[in-house]
Amino acid sequence: MSFNTLAPVVRAGLLDEVLDGLGFIHANDHCRRNCLHCPAFGDQSPVIMTPFATLTKVVSDVGDAYRERGRSPRRSIASWRISDPLDYLVRSGSGIRDTYDVGVLWRRYLDQGIYLVTNGSEGKRQAREALRRLAGDPEVASQIKLTITPCDQGWGTDRYLDNIAQDIAILAPLWDLGSTRMEDPQGRRFRINLKSTAERRDESLEFLEHALVVAGVARAKVESLMEDSTHVAVKDIYDLGSYAGDSPVKQAINIKGDSGRRFKPTAEARTQYQYGIYPDGTIQMIDMYEFQVYPVALGGEPLRLNVDGAADGRTRRAS
Ligand code: SF4
Repeated sequence: MSFNTLAPVVRAGLLDEVLDGLGFIHANDHCRRNCLHCPAFGDQSPVIMTPFATLTKVVSDVGDAYRERGRSPRRSIASWRISDPLDYLVRSGSGIRDTYDVGVLWRRYLDQGIYLVTNGSEGKRQAREALRRLAGDPEVASQIKLTITPCDQGWGTDRYLDNIAQDIAILAPLWDLGSTRMEDPQGRRFRINLKSTAERRDESLEFLEHALVVAGVARAKVESLMEDSTHVAVKDIYDLGSYAGDSPVKQAINIKGDSGRRFKPTAEARTQYQYGIYPDGTIQMIDMYEFQVYPVALGGEPLRLNVDGAADGRTRRAS
């Protein structure tokens, strides 16, 4: 069998279902950046990285499986979920691999550019280098979104302003290209998401205006950029929960129903149930409306890809 990491899924008779519903192949999982609005707020566990050789094997096997069926993925497959893609950084052989290299795998094997939503490089050298490489080889990414928010731990510091402005300056050329992400064919390759509660909207808009100028955008162009939702999308903050319980963001929009369970139907943007492949090789079912993850088990054992022996890198924390 050419796609041998998927052998356990084939044996379980679930390969077609998993390929149909596949939404995530995690290069990295978990996050310690601690943005207030994020379900990862309060997560103290290390960021887990899939070794690059393992990721390469899994992604190429998944790509082969689609091709053998004469199909392509039905949606954009993300390389992260509650994590920041710019934190992917592993040693592989004698070199370092980052999220640009992950994107190259997506383009080569999955017939799509990688979709990235990031809170920015935080000025980390390798993360910024990954952004530069992505901007210089735009076919590798289907769309890159940069989230700017007062919920970021760095908000209010000169350093946050400087880092965000530098990231915008790197990505700004991608504003001139169209998105190739199948879920947003009318969008641009780069978009800023400005996320705040209604109470902090003015402060956030003021920050972004200033950051654009610091990034080198001509003052005369700033207003038109900010008024065009394909350049800058202004978004609300929902209480998606966190490791510490409810969201700590004051005035986050409550989406709990009478049962006390969160539910945010977003049929126009995403399918409710999606499969994810995790760094340990397990396959889990993600409820995208309820923000819950359910392990897939057969006979009491978790369904897990055959990833042992594919690794050459070591799992490490993001720095
Ligand atoms: S919003 Fe992104 S960067 Fe911030 S804590 Fe969540 S996953 Fe990490």
